[in-house]
Amino acid sequence: HKYVYDFAEGNKGLKDLLGGKGANLAEMTNLGLPVPPGFTITTEACKAYLTTGREPEGLAAQIEAHLESLEREMGRRLGDPDDPLLVSVRSGAKFSMPGMMETVLNVGLNDRSVIGLSAQAGGNDRFAWDSYRRLIQMFGKTVCEVPGEEFEHALDEAKHAKGTSNDLDLDADDLRGLVDAYKKIFAKHTGREFPQEPREQLDLAIRAVFESWNAERAVLYRRQERIPADLGTAVNVVTMVFGNLGPDSGTGVAFTRDPGSGAQGIYGDYLANAQGEDVVAGIRNTVPLQELEQLDKASYDQLLGIMARLEEHYKDLCDIEFTIERGKLWMLQTRVGKRTAAAAFVIAGQLVDEGLIDLDEALHRVNGAQLAQLMFPRFQLDHEFEAVAKGIGASPGAASGKVVFTSARAVELAAEGEAVILVRRETNPDDLNGMIAAQGILTSRGGKTSHAAVVARGMGKTCVSGADELEVNVPAKKFTVGGHVVNEGDVVSIDGTTGKVYLGEVPVMPSEVVQYFEGELDPETIDDALVRAVHRIMTHADAARRLRVRTNADTGADAARARRFGAEGIGLCRTEHMFLGDRRELVERLILASGEREREDALAALLPLQRADFIEIFREMDGLPVTVRLIDPPLHEFLPPLEQLAVNVAVAQERGEDVAKEEALLAAVRRMHEENPMLGLRGVRLGLVIPGLFAMQVRAITEAAVAVVRDGGTACPEIMVPLVGAVQELETVRAEAERIIAEVVGDSGVEVLIGTMIEVPRAALTAGQIAEAAEFFSFGTNDLTQMGWGFSRDDVEGAFFWRYLELGIFGISPFESIDTDGVGRLIRIAAEEGRAARPGLKLGVCGEHGGDPDSVHFFHSVGLDYVSCSPFRVPVARLEAGRAAI
Ligand code: PEP
Ligand code: MG
Repeated sequence: HKYVYDFAEGNKGLKDLLGGKGANLAEMTNLGLPVPPGFTITTEACKAYLTTGREPEGLAAQIEAHLESLEREMGRRLGDPDDPLLVSVRSGAKFSMPGMMETVLNVGLNDRSVIGLSAQAGGNDRFAWDSYRRLIQMFGKTVCEVPGEEFEHALDEAKHAKGTSNDLDLDADDLRGLVDAYKKIFAKHTGREFPQEPREQLDLAIRAVFESWNAERAVLYRRQERIPADLGTAVNVVTMVFGNLGPDSGTGVAFTRDPGSGAQGIYGDYLANAQGEDVVAGIRNTVPLQELEQLDKASYDQLLGIMARLEEHYKDLCDIEFTIERGKLWMLQTRVGKRTAAAAFVIAGQLVDEGLIDLDEALHRVNGAQLAQLMFPRFQLDHEFEAVAKGIGASPGAASGKVVFTSARAVELAAEGEAVILVRRETNPDDLNGMIAAQGILTSRGGKTSHAAVVARGMGKTCVSGADELEVNVPAKKFTVGGHVVNEGDVVSIDGTTGKVYLGEVPVMPSEVVQYFEGELDPETIDDALVRAVHRIMTHADAARRLRVRTNADTGADAARARRFGAEGIGLCRTEHMFLGDRRELVERLILASGEREREDALAALLPLQRADFIEIFREMDGLPVTVRLIDPPLHEFLPPLEQLAVNVAVAQERGEDVAKEEALLAAVRRMHEENPMLGLRGVRLGLVIPGLFAMQVRAITEAAVAVVRDGGTACPEIMVPLVGAVQELETVRAEAERIIAEVVGDSGVEVLIGTMIEVPRAALTAGQIAEAAEFFSFGTNDLTQMGWGFSRDDVEGAFFWRYLELGIFGISPFESIDTDGVGRLIRIAAEEGRAARPGLKLGVCGEHGGDPDSVHFFHSVGLDYVSCSPFRVPVARLEAGRAAI
């Protein structure tokens, strides 16, 4: 079994096996770019190690063989005392997990080879001892779990003894002393000496990278990013090149376009005389990449050439890491770069213009989650708000909240329902929990590629980084800026697009993308790359998609907005929402009616109110289908809460008041009380039990349609019966409804369809029978999930879903994204058997899943006619329906 690949043996298609980093190092090697030679140990080796706890058979020998050939190529041996080859050991999973897993640099250094390294570097003792102390530090922390603070503490002491705060002031002797101190720390914590044998260093480092796949923060990150837990990481063993050999060396990161806005240009950070991790960790402030032109023109020009080449080859934005070792440029990494939602749309549009990709491909390159992000509101700045600082707009959005300075405090306050902004000098992987809990992240140091920036962008969380006017004092729980002192708990607002920081809460306004959907911005004339790109891609999605998109709306205003957003009708109008507020009492009267007369009075009072509701909605949806669902939820929702009522009655009785009326109400509420209301008297069952209720609604719907038509409009009502489990239920309702419709429609020409929700598993399994009595099905995936799994949709998310997610029983809540294997199977069966019984049966979905990107793809694949979702999700569903079709 082949577990080890030379860079020359791989390519970018092998990410599953070689991880993203390994596959792209191979690709660059084969493009003839300057990549330090090395090899990749596969994810399969990692998986084997993680399952058995041992390196798989044959791995050691393969590593040996590849190491030997690397040594031959470089003309040096690993850790050779006189002229050592040094390597880095880098993790690299299929999906990028920035800073989540481990890397060890300078493997191969020991008490003897450190002298050889110095000679290699032209007698640069300082450099050699600094490299050695870094190895002990990284190896100790990563491989042997020595607490990192101990090393940092020793480093601080060395600087203190020297009377400096700058690492660069430490000379070779100081660093040699530090190596001794580090070795003592290492021995104290591990019970052994720091390993001097280079091959042992290498093997242990490889093992540590394997194990880092299951590090707590990596597990958490994967869950957040929905990366499967069983992929494993590859391990790259790469010849070391040094960016810390002097002023003619350095290291940097760059993007071929601005990952924040998508704008073309040169974007990156450079740090002279530094090793790679210094940049990503945001420890020292970098300079803009453009300044490299002055420092080293030849390398700069070569780098720009390589970046252009990579873009053309990958046909996408690439990000890269590079090192310059004494004027020689080395490429350490590239990948198709992460980007903000706005940049994703803008870049896709640009690449079409440049002829690199077509519109189908552009549609592939964006997604509904990104579009949803672009619909977030922004700050409204025509106010007296003045920014107190400006950092780097690292991840867009507008966030306000109380300032907190630690991850733990962020989690605590967020759990109490507070919006918080996590303020740090810089973040590191240990801050992940706080970053998840916060509305936004603000750091005083670090560029667009710092940990905070990269992770926040990945999460779609607002982030301003490198706001260096801020003096952040974490122990004192405050920061100062321009004479202001901001304490924990004070409110700030941050703009992740402009990088600006404001004191207090800044009001927000709709995003330009929402303004475009609202029809307030003309995409043909506006000078806004994002709006134009969104328009172009949405237009293509609409042309490509087969699924229609409707909306769930119960009011004229919602219907109108959804229509502006592109809805092609209403897929679900929940009439029970129309019975709340002032009308609740009428419903109470209906439920408690003691005789036919009282009931009919109550119904007669409700009829005109309902009719008016429907007229408004039919007008807004003129010419488009409107599915109105007959009343669904349990009746007790319309009655006063039992316990409260019982207490009131008892108190009133105590006082000797006349409580006859209240007692009657209490008795009725008691009678209606259900232990499992979601499985009780609701939906079609209500219609069959309370005479006249459904009839009133059918009449109101039909009369409204007739009124709209007589007014010159076009109404296309579809009456939907909820919670049907047996065809007989539907037949009973249908017979009555047809009679009323025939009577009301007269010669108006109005046509009313009658259909049903499929939201009870039995309905799905008897869909062939039910289709005989239904002109359409609409899948109620909320209830179908609830009843399919036997999970209460109102209770479980907080109660135990976290554990299910942790155990991987599901990767995402089945209430959020459709469970294709189980609930999805019910849908498939019902769709097939329904259509077999009634060709041309209209099929839709109106549960929350109708606006979820992955679920939309599933509904497309099952052959539904439409999805229906909340108004704000309509553009997302349009986009995803387009993506599903290409
Ligand atoms: C459903 O069950 O999916 C549905 C749309 O109905 P409701 O959410 O109103 O129960
Ligand atoms: Mg339902």
